[in-house]
Amino acid sequence: MNKNNIKIPFVNLILQHQSLQIQLEQAIQSVLSKGDFILGQALSDFETAFAVASGTEYGIGVASGTDAIALGLQACNIGSGDEVLLPVNTFVATLIGVLRVGAKPIFVDCDRQTALIDLEAAAKLVTPKTKAIIPVHLYGQMVSPKQLLDFAQTYNLLIFEDAAQAHLAEREGYFAGSVGIAAAFSFYPSKNLGAFGDGGMLLTRDPDIAQKMVRLRNYGAAQKYFHVEAGTNSRLDTLQAAVLLEKLPYLPKWNCDRNHIAKQYDRELLPLASAGILPLENHSDTGHVYHLYVIKIDDSCPFTRQQIQEKLTELGIQTGIHYPIPCHLQPAFTNLGYQPGDFLQAEALAKQILSLPMYPGLSSSEITEVVSAIASILSSSQQLLCL
Ligand SMILES: *Cc1c(COP(=O)(O)O)cnc(C)c1O
Repeated sequence: MNKNNIKIPFVNLILQHQSLQIQLEQAIQSVLSKGDFILGQALSDFETAFAVASGTEYGIGVASGTDAIALGLQACNIGSGDEVLLPVNTFVATLIGVLRVGAKPIFVDCDRQTALIDLEAAAKLVTPKTKAIIPVHLYGQMVSPKQLLDFAQTYNLLIFEDAAQAHLAEREGYFAGSVGIAAAFSFYPSKNLGAFGDGGMLLTRDPDIAQKMVRLRNYGAAQKYFHVEAGTNSRLDTLQAAVLLEKLPYLPKWNCDRNHIAKQYDRELLPLASAGILPLENHSDTGHVYHLYVIKIDDSCPFTRQQIQEKLTELGIQTGIHYPIPCHLQPAFTNLGYQPGDFLQAEALAKQILSLPMYPGLSSSEITEVVSAIASILSSSQQLLCL
């Protein structure tokens, strides 16, 4: 599709920064004046601000969400010989983090209505080697903290949250990142809180894990030129932290916008349920921060997901699929020994899901236009059937 034909984009990062341009430039300028590009003031300010906003204690900024997972698991002493439960329908970075520390990933199927990890399925996979579970707060909705805490207590497991899609999401009185022993966040530009490049953070309230993480991201150094861990170089740039610190106060408003947009989609899509168009379920009301707004195109729909996506593209409406192939079927990971058919819910969802345009600033009339476009595609089939 030619870029000029896009009427409603999937995300719009330019819109978000327009109104903040002057203050963002000032924030960047202030780092330039200080010259503290690595581990500077804005980084520690942002680490504290984001940890406090998320209802926890320590934030350690790293180069990406993937590093927050891999180094974070290492900081929690999860590694070789340990089994780690994770949803099979996550972004591949969750899996990569587990593999990087040498732990054994144990995939778990998901709930068909929410796409979140199925804890009943997880319970059946616990062995004496299981050390941790990684709930992924997928699409911006938290896995139930109460159920997670119960589960972890029953089986004596650590909870390591993948909150890369759930900045300031809430459920049952918990913020994303405050439930487990530690939590990984990503500041990839299109995330709910995005930098001007890559970035990530580990949150924890455990001072020892925080200390270890501070060393791991900085060549394993306890002090300069004294190395106590086999660490790496993975720091969140001061410049990126300055941008994120400036954007953080707007995050609650942006999340609120996303939640409102989702409510309008839900309302307007309701009449299409009988034609097999079903939004994923929200079990956390305003606590769902809708990193993505995902619908299922059910088998009862007269069109396939691909047909609907192609027709929407023709109409200038950009959509996405998150994610088209579950982790166990990715070519890179066939050596893990899984087969098609191992995760029926996730495999079925992967064929049905479609992510609609979602970003703060998406207007009410644009939402209506997206839904009308879907309705018009569906009604074209009825005409065909009538002929
Ligand atoms: C984005 C994302 C990551 C990885 O973050 P990066 O900053 O891109 O490395 C991990 N897990 C999930 C669920 C994500 O959406």
